[in-house]
Amino acid sequence: MPDTPPVVVNVLTVDVEEYYHGVEFASALGADAQARLPSRVVAQTERLLDLLDLHGARATFFTLGVVAQRFPRLVRSIVARDHELASHGWDHTPVFRLGAAGFRTDVRRAKRTLEGVAGRAVRGYRAPNYSIRPDTPWAFAVLAEAGHTYDSSIHPIVHDRYGFPDAPRFAHRLPGDSGLWEVPVGTARALGTNLPLGGGFFRLFPAPLLAGGIASVNRRDRQPLVLYVHPWELDPQQPRPAMPWTHRFRHYVGLAGAERKLQALLAAFRFTTIDHALAPAPAAAAPAVARAS
Ligand SMILES: [Zn+2]
Repeated sequence: MPDTPPVVVNVLTVDVEEYYHGVEFASALGADAQARLPSRVVAQTERLLDLLDLHGARATFFTLGVVAQRFPRLVRSIVARDHELASHGWDHTPVFRLGAAGFRTDVRRAKRTLEGVAGRAVRGYRAPNYSIRPDTPWAFAVLAEAGHTYDSSIHPIVHDRYGFPDAPRFAHRLPGDSGLWEVPVGTARALGTNLPLGGGFFRLFPAPLLAGGIASVNRRDRQPLVLYVHPWELDPQQPRPAMPWTHRFRHYVGLAGAERKLQALLAAFRFTTIDHALAPAPAAAAPAVARAS
């Protein structure tokens, strides 16, 4: 009997924040204007949780400390529905702006708040806007000291705001004494470059391109694809305050079709959490691979 090809279980990650925590809002509106915008994160995240239940998918939810503090029931619901809770920092201030001491305070405050609300340990961390860069060399040590065991802040693509275009594409232990694992955001190889598939690119690219990218990572690299989405990306009704057109494009492009696209990917691929994907053999960086049944 021929061998059934192995089915790679992919990884879904969700950055739990308000639509106005998007980088475009922060630079176009002042803090006061942002604070006056209505909160929508609870309804948006619950909608996403329902969608995941519908498809039997699990995800890692990188959640802001300020969201956990304001909406503890939402955080408990994420955990009760069998997803992994992880940290997205305190209030979405970029790491390079916080400095080493400010970053330490931010990371510890977020972790303590999330763990207090959820009643369980938080292992993972993802920086707002992937803002760990070559000019923040202290960041990984701060995360390890705070008790994090993995980071997912590296998005290895050429981008005006990200710092490590040539970093390894798959989970690996970081050099140095931190013992920290890095779980980079997923990319597919195309035309000699790393093609991003998450966030704004997820909204911009047509569904067949996204599905083809995930399938190529599973088949050629034999690795899970680490996809990321924001709850606000499934909410075309969110407020649209005035901002420059480049900002508007980056934040709002493809909102109307995002939910349909995510549904198609959830139907076509299996998704699980980062801790589950890393769990079977962390010493060998083995992805979670299961035989097709
Ligand atoms: Zn974020």
